[in-house]
Amino acid sequence: MKNVPLLLSLTGLQRFSKRKRSKSNIAESRDIVGLPHSQLNTTGFMSKSLDGSISNIPRPIRNEVDTNEPSLSELSEQDKPWDKHRHSADRVADHYRGEVEFDRYAQRMDFCSQLLEFKLVPHDREDSLRFKLAGARFCRVRHCPVCQWRRSLKWKARALEALPKIIKDFPKHRWLFLTLTQKNCSVTELRKTITEMNKSFKRLTRFKEWCIDGWIKSLEVTHGKDGKAHPHFHLLLICPPSYFSNNYISQQKWVELWQKAAKLDYKPQIHIKAVHKKQNPAILIPEILKYSLKESDLYRDKDFLFEVTKQLHKTRCVSVGGVLKSYLKKVGEEPEDLIGNDESETAEEIARLYFGWRYQEKKYRLKT
Ligand SMILES: [Zn+2]
Repeated sequence: MKNVPLLLSLTGLQRFSKRKRSKSNIAESRDIVGLPHSQLNTTGFMSKSLDGSISNIPRPIRNEVDTNEPSLSELSEQDKPWDKHRHSADRVADHYRGEVEFDRYAQRMDFCSQLLEFKLVPHDREDSLRFKLAGARFCRVRHCPVCQWRRSLKWKARALEALPKIIKDFPKHRWLFLTLTQKNCSVTELRKTITEMNKSFKRLTRFKEWCIDGWIKSLEVTHGKDGKAHPHFHLLLICPPSYFSNNYISQQKWVELWQKAAKLDYKPQIHIKAVHKKQNPAILIPEILKYSLKESDLYRDKDFLFEVTKQLHKTRCVSVGGVLKSYLKKVGEEPEDLIGNDESETAEEIARLYFGWRYQEKKYRLKT
């Protein structure tokens, strides 16, 4: 097992020569890094990547023995975010722990993504290797930072996959990026406020001025400096070319329309931006399908987290409407797979590596 770092540097995650890769090398690398699953059971983890029940599994060990095994972030640049999200998950779980209403979330999150299984596969373009996640168990707690990150990645991938077809079917259509806000509300009023905002949006779409053919709408809630909640909608709109001639809605007009739809006695903040004709709307997908709650807002204030957890319970944060509905059916739904196995994968597997989360160190390290 001690040869794993050596193997990694020899095969060169940095530079891996396909020409030099003989059959014997592949076999050797598999033998060295392919951990027998039975060995993993002794640490209390499941033997194979499963997305299932988590009962009857002991708590993860938090008193860690020092190790010089390489960390995931050292070996794979693209997998650096794992450390940050898993550490945030520990912070959120530590808030939930011991609270009557939320302790069950802490228990589930403790076991979320504790062990990551990666395949080493040849890079698509470069003459090197890349990591591909092959297995992990996810807790699926709504506000688990790891799970919300994976969910958001999945939605973005689905939207980006569908976009070329939409552009092909609506070649003359244009795209708009709209943000609808209103004044902050008390966190305890959040659920009620969001319900009202959804009704307001529906009213907006029924106005005669509304000439939009389709939309992706996502809810974001930030924690305002005043301690209140700031719920707002981000929207990606698709509109016919006539929007810019006969049906143009100015910024001021958008403010008026949203004020009327939301029945507000003040002028709300609106941001509207057109995507340039030559620009691909894909650049806005990450903005639209980001998390409904910022990771830092989840762990910074315990009371905010508790109230938001109650208020957002079983609410939907992403919805798709109009002509986009048939293209983006599954965006906004809980993905069955948070690993990413459904992408077409034909790459030859060179080896398998396992990384375990180290709570004290806040890092994933290779497990041997
Ligand atoms: Zn999770």
